[in-house]
Amino acid sequence: MRFPPAAALLLILCALAGCASPESETATDLGLADKAAADTAPALLFTQALVQRGDTLAGALEELGLNAEQNRSVLRALGDEIDLRRVPIGAGVSVGRDEAGDLQQVTCRVERERYVRVLFDRSPPRTESIELPVETRMASTHTRIEQSVSQAFSQIEDGARLTAEFADIMQWDVDLWTETRQGDRIRLVYERRYLGLLAEETPPFGDRIEQSGESIGIGRVHAAIYEGSIAAGSAYWIEGGDDVRGYFDAQGKPLRKTFIKSPLSFYRISSRFSNARRNPVTRKVVPHHGVDYAAPTGSPVMATAQGKVIQVGWMGALGKAVRVRHGGGFETIYGHLSRYAKGMKPGRSVDQREVIGYVGSTGRATGPHVHYTVKRHGRPIDPLAFENPSVDPLPEDAYPLLVQTRRRWEPWLAYEATPVASLSAPLFSVPFGSDAR
Ligand SMILES: [Zn+2]
Repeated sequence: MRFPPAAALLLILCALAGCASPESETATDLGLADKAAADTAPALLFTQALVQRGDTLAGALEELGLNAEQNRSVLRALGDEIDLRRVPIGAGVSVGRDEAGDLQQVTCRVERERYVRVLFDRSPPRTESIELPVETRMASTHTRIEQSVSQAFSQIEDGARLTAEFADIMQWDVDLWTETRQGDRIRLVYERRYLGLLAEETPPFGDRIEQSGESIGIGRVHAAIYEGSIAAGSAYWIEGGDDVRGYFDAQGKPLRKTFIKSPLSFYRISSRFSNARRNPVTRKVVPHHGVDYAAPTGSPVMATAQGKVIQVGWMGALGKAVRVRHGGGFETIYGHLSRYAKGMKPGRSVDQREVIGYVGSTGRATGPHVHYTVKRHGRPIDPLAFENPSVDPLPEDAYPLLVQTRRRWEPWLAYEATPVASLSAPLFSVPFGSDAR
């Protein structure tokens, strides 16, 4: 049976809102559809809450009127899908009840692009992970440094994220702390992501991003150019075949090195590599063959290079530690972890930046930090000062792809006209992105 989409939408809206179908000819005509809609979408009433800073998911559920037992069963069900300790601040939680007030479903927006639904139509409740539709559009931006890179990006939507991405891509060519100067220019081509058309069953989460078409942040950076008085660099994202995947400069030189600079994204160096240091705990003068990176307990620790895990376990003063072997006679050790990442065991291959464990203070430590050691042919070397090998250059047969990519982004990188005001223009109306100076 066919019916006009508008009428069908009205019916579903009615079903969701729990209102009675209008007593009209149309409603009679749609008797069948009405029944089908009622079968698949029982009239639910939604209430929402946000997981606030300092709050937990359990707290938000309690606020929404779940009793202790319901709360427990929701957490148990969600625990299979997500890391409950990592539910983001501001995550929307929505509780759906039927007309009788009985709990039917609980949903949690665990990521901008994904929510998890716990359905109480059977016992124990079942869980579904639902990807929200995402539309990607390309954007470009140009900016000029007055004080710092983050200041230069501050007027752009998702500027903090762009700063981090840019810093990450350019980390080997531009030192954002020491090599940036006023007047330096940055050009970027990147993906902007929007929520696509949401399914009717998508519950309201009450969070910042609710509607189809709303911005959910940035995706991959495809081209980045830095023109500075001291530093300069370009990066193009090239992806083709199985082995080509990464950023290369305009000539095909890879931007990535074998090792990233540190195993943590955010840290403070609390102790450097030294051959004679007074140990803060034992007071003895002994070599400190590593670098200590202080960070809050639980911060993810990344493998600094691709390799194979060769040891996971207690290593004396280092407490819980992971040892990874890399090519070229290199080896890295990460100590004082609070716990290991899921599935970490000897023999496992890890990628550069793969999370291997979490910051802690196990073993001999004065506070939460990672003790990071790099060894070459068995000898400890200074992680902050060793010759970091480049990864393989772009293979010859991938050069046409580089040329094609450069040509593709050329007009985007050259585009200079859009004023800052258009950055907040309505979505879907800025085909060539935005520009900030
Ligand atoms: Zn140390």
